[in-house]
Amino acid sequence: MSKPLRIGILGSTGSIGKNSIEVIRNLITNGVNCKIEFLTTNNNVELLKLQAKEFNPSAVVIANSNVSKIQIPGAKIYYGEEGLLRVTAEADYDVLLSSLVGFAGLAPTIEAIRRGKRIALANKETLVVAGGTITELAKKFNSELIPVDSEHSAIFQCLTGESQHCVDNLILTASGGPFRNRKLEDIVNASIEDALNHPNWNMGNKITIDSATLMNKGLEVIEAHWLFNIPPEKINVVIHPQSIIHSMVEFNDGSIKAQMGIPDMKIPIQYALTFPERVTSDFPRMDFEKFSTLSFEKPDTEKFRCLNICYDVLKLGGTYPVVLNAANEIAISLFLDSKISFGEIADVIEQSLEDHVCNGDYSLDNIFEIDKEIRNKILRNHIK
Ligand code: MN
Repeated sequence: MSKPLRIGILGSTGSIGKNSIEVIRNLITNGVNCKIEFLTTNNNVELLKLQAKEFNPSAVVIANSNVSKIQIPGAKIYYGEEGLLRVTAEADYDVLLSSLVGFAGLAPTIEAIRRGKRIALANKETLVVAGGTITELAKKFNSELIPVDSEHSAIFQCLTGESQHCVDNLILTASGGPFRNRKLEDIVNASIEDALNHPNWNMGNKITIDSATLMNKGLEVIEAHWLFNIPPEKINVVIHPQSIIHSMVEFNDGSIKAQMGIPDMKIPIQYALTFPERVTSDFPRMDFEKFSTLSFEKPDTEKFRCLNICYDVLKLGGTYPVVLNAANEIAISLFLDSKISFGEIADVIEQSLEDHVCNGDYSLDNIFEIDKEIRNKILRNHIK
């Protein structure tokens, strides 16, 4: 019998994490020899215990150090950010499913890259804040970065078997989020409930708000730039409200390849784990008769400023993406705490970028420093 595929999951109780558990059940059902090496959660200890009972990992991490200590038979238990770093640096695994939310994913993902592991990358913020460093390290340590983000998985699948020099454009599709058809004056004071009500995808809070501002698509433009080494002017965004085409690649002969399917994260997660193989699944299938129309429109960048902010930041480079990401994460948490309005999310980000002076130090240490600085500064200005 072949050696099992050993998987470590960062963030196993989040939206991507729960989907990945279903994927692993599917792989096992279909005769793929795989094993979960470790699981991690921030707070959701009850679900972590259930997952550990089913899959017997060698280690688990509870990232929130304020959670009371637990016991799981047969598993080492680590706590806090330190625990996340230890498990990625020490455990025996082949693939890291990197699905923490936001900046928190950066440090443990780097640990895995330095060990030459395959990274099934669901944490786009890692590439947004440190895309240059991450892709260089991945090359140096022979670590494969396989995207889990549905758009990037689509592009990755379209590019398989193609030559880089034949690519004319990457075309990222966007659902347009819950406010696509709303007027600007309605959006600026939109409620938390409305902003969290995504039309097609059921995801965590952070990415759902990012979808409502179109920041998510902007972050994905930056992510695509680093993953596929394509300049920003060749990365286009088109609104496609049905979310059936997950993204496309246009080639130099005018041919366009699209990857399609129902919006279900299990498909890109499984592909990232099993690439270059495909494995049978009983995940729900596309019913073409239910989707008689696939439509496309231009994104409204007056209503959704965040998309263009991301293009500008990508062109500026340096440490501006770190500022963009930190300001966005904090602005979202302030919005979800009712401290700022929906419209002010973009204001906070623009102000932070305007105030920032890039000193030419792109080291990881400086990235961590700037991230902390920006968060503290915004919090000081908004919390009395
Ligand atoms: Mn996406």
